[in-house]
Amino acid sequence: MAFEAPRNAETATTCPYCGVGCGVLAAPSNDGLSAEVRGDPEHPSNFGKLCSKGAALGETLDMDERLLHPEIDGRKSDWDEALNLVAQRFSETIAAHGPDSVAFYVSGQLLTEDYYVANKLIKGFIGSANIDTNSRLCMASSVVGHKRAFGTDTVPGCYEDLDEADLVVLVGANFAWCHPVLHQRLLAAKARRGTRIVAIDPRQTATSAAADLHLQIKPGADVALFNALFSHLSSSSAFDKAYVESHTTGFDAALAAAGSVDMMDVADATGVAVEDLLTFFEWVRDTPRTMTIYSQGVNQSTAGSDKVNAILNCHLATGRIGTPGCGPFSITGQPNAMGGREVGGLANQLAAHMDFAPEDVDRVGRFWTAERMAYAPGLKAVDMFNAVAEGHVKAIWIMATNPVVSMPDADKVRAALQACPFVVVSDVIKTGDTVALADVRLPATAWGEKSGTVTNSERRISRQRSFLRPPGDARHDWDIISDVARRMGYPGFEYASPSEIFREHAALSDFENTGARDFDIGAYAGVDAAAYDDLQPFQWPAPKSETRAGETQNEQHRFFQDGRFYTADKKARFLETVPRGPANAPTENHPFILNTGRIRDHWHTMTRTAKTPRLSQHIAEPFLEIHPADAADLGLSPAALATAKSAYGEGLFRVQISRRVRQGEVFAPMHWTSRYAAAGRIDALANPETDPASGQPELKHTPISLSAFSAKWFGLLAVIEEPNLSNAPISYWAKARIEGGWRVELAGGRDDADIEEIAARLTDLEPNAEILEYADTKTGALRRA
Ligand code: SF4
Repeated sequence: MAFEAPRNAETATTCPYCGVGCGVLAAPSNDGLSAEVRGDPEHPSNFGKLCSKGAALGETLDMDERLLHPEIDGRKSDWDEALNLVAQRFSETIAAHGPDSVAFYVSGQLLTEDYYVANKLIKGFIGSANIDTNSRLCMASSVVGHKRAFGTDTVPGCYEDLDEADLVVLVGANFAWCHPVLHQRLLAAKARRGTRIVAIDPRQTATSAAADLHLQIKPGADVALFNALFSHLSSSSAFDKAYVESHTTGFDAALAAAGSVDMMDVADATGVAVEDLLTFFEWVRDTPRTMTIYSQGVNQSTAGSDKVNAILNCHLATGRIGTPGCGPFSITGQPNAMGGREVGGLANQLAAHMDFAPEDVDRVGRFWTAERMAYAPGLKAVDMFNAVAEGHVKAIWIMATNPVVSMPDADKVRAALQACPFVVVSDVIKTGDTVALADVRLPATAWGEKSGTVTNSERRISRQRSFLRPPGDARHDWDIISDVARRMGYPGFEYASPSEIFREHAALSDFENTGARDFDIGAYAGVDAAAYDDLQPFQWPAPKSETRAGETQNEQHRFFQDGRFYTADKKARFLETVPRGPANAPTENHPFILNTGRIRDHWHTMTRTAKTPRLSQHIAEPFLEIHPADAADLGLSPAALATAKSAYGEGLFRVQISRRVRQGEVFAPMHWTSRYAAAGRIDALANPETDPASGQPELKHTPISLSAFSAKWFGLLAVIEEPNLSNAPISYWAKARIEGGWRVELAGGRDDADIEEIAARLTDLEPNAEILEYADTKTGALRRA
């Protein structure tokens, strides 16, 4: 039965998982270790709906694994000692080796106020732009595509377009699993008004199953597909000549680069049948209200930026942008990737959607009264960890993210951090793969304890509000960063609350902004603490001329309705996009293509979702999805184990045999860490090749080899207490929470310990414990309770 507590017993906040940004009402239990959670019916992004992850938020609030006190070299410390050490070591490193010898690696899980202060400290006072965010792995290619076409990083549309479109094209987006509340909204529109859905994805997914047409495209062939669509549209009735002439430049060159549409060539390049291509082209041609939604399948590629521009070219050629029910729409994976883009969380941005043009550096410097502005972009994520490995970066502060699991070539990242002279990690938990490598561990507040704002994929800024007291010594990220800044002797960090930071952030967006910058929330520059507490979700832009602090903004904002863009001549740019394949093609040694992504019920590196039995049981082990013909060739039966190797790393996974993937291609989830599996960190295998314009890694395409793992024995363990498997002498284990305890899948290889030894070790029984045992020497079966 739905929880029906009176609204005044609940706190209105925002889900911390994905870029949909659903409003949540949370009522904590008396002990503060759980909460009743329901969707906020008044939040305009979800109108009361939640997906499985959001609905389980209340089950993830316990104190297991929480980092509760500052630690130095693994011993308990206090804030004074820890922050003095951080300030001292960063100051000494900068003095000895210059500002670029230090770096911050931050996160789309931070709140905007945390992000703002981190960016201000390093870019305005340390004098380096070496701050990058895990959003680099998520949507950096979309940022580049937007800026090249529009002059700014602007998402033109809003979620309401899903209700008003006649055709929705989902490109590289498993919408049903990764953005479930929006997918449900789309399906409701389909039921109501017959919206057609096209899914473009190398895999069959829950999203493609609900689509009218699935183009099971070859990995990396998106530019070839959208170039062909662009050429087709440009010689069809859908071409909007007047729009192109009045509001764009570069059309002729882009069309010439796209080439002619020989359908056999397009079919060959994309792997899609001519018939399906023609259907797709005709549907787009004949549907003015066409919306193209794209996500990681587009962005996580060495051609990600060009893929985005190939899509944007199609919308510009048809003038389908900025009006209801149409337009390109980049959907972000992380809860606050958009907020990070607003404050300059990426190394190649400054703040408030400004870049490193001299006038921008000067403007931000004057606004901050900065002592030492950064004048040039800093290191993007992959380059940053390479610089750590090479010894150029000698002190790094990692906040709210787990790069030892999520970065490509993740073993190299681990080795780099092991060798780095000074590593600081701010986190909520003490068990992460990255936290384990920190010299200084700083306990941060978690969802439910934090307070600030986040921005979702439709540019809607919402409050995350606290409804729990911070445990132990945990402090807010903005407070920790500001304290270090003060200890380093910098002025301008005397914040007492997130509302002060938000005011400054809003004021910067308005500062000398005469309409040349899209990001403008000047209407909120004067918001006081009470109005900030009561802040209702609103979409930007919200310039000063529109006073809305404390009010709900009902109007849906779309950009570019007037056909004016943020380039010098106010015209959008077509881009010449030429198809190119992924950086590393399969070889004889690595003949399979590894694609990575999310599953329905886990979030990032599972730090929160793995706490709940409900979410852990959807898929309890790291797996490889492999085509039946490949499985047969490799001698793999259903649920067997397979070793996967790339030129960078290896892992051991459960096999799922399925026609959802094409022959020669393999899919694996990105979530598992060494906390939950012996060898399930898939990004240890992922190649670190990046898009030359965006720096986004090609996480969707790594050549790998596969081989059957020859197990001596298999085991299944159900226990009440969590077993410690970190040094168990067996090749395979994967553990997941179940009601009342833990379930562990085990397998021993030829050289591993015997099952008897493992069973005795893991169950750790009292000497006189009563044991029920069934053993069959013929089959080798052993059951013990
Ligand atoms: Fe909404 Fe995303 Fe949270 Fe699900 S995970 S409730 S879709 S914000």
